[in-house]
Amino acid sequence: MNIPDSMDDVFYYTNRDIGESGEVIVVVLKKKCPKCGTRMEKPKSKTGKPLRTATEYNCPNCGNSIKKKEYEDSLTAQVRYTCPNCGNSEDTEIPFIRKKVKGALSLVVTCSKCSEKMHVTKKFKALKK
Ligand SMILES: [Zn+2]
Ligand SMILES: [Zn+2]
Repeated sequence: MNIPDSMDDVFYYTNRDIGESGEVIVVVLKKKCPKCGTRMEKPKSKTGKPLRTATEYNCPNCGNSIKKKEYEDSLTAQVRYTCPNCGNSEDTEIPFIRKKVKGALSLVVTCSKCSEKMHVTKKFKALKK
């Protein structure tokens, strides 16, 4: 797993305890411009904050732009997990696609040994029972 030096490169990061003994770390790096390799960003407002309402990501170097959905659907999550069921510990990469599970947006990580599913939900939002 490659933990970036700067949070500027990070699109999403989380470190979650799963059950009693499990843990999942997820790092998603921002996508690079397919044309020139520069990190793509959301357009910024006049105050320098990323625009939440932006519908595309821009390359600050060459001006290339990618639609928000296309950009976010093609991100890759680097995952390091310890399975709460069998104790297997592994690094893997999965598409960063989150699905609604029991009312919470979750990234589902599956243990390669025992097929246990670990749900990485948004912070502070517990799964509904
Ligand atoms: Zn570019
Ligand atoms: Zn397992």
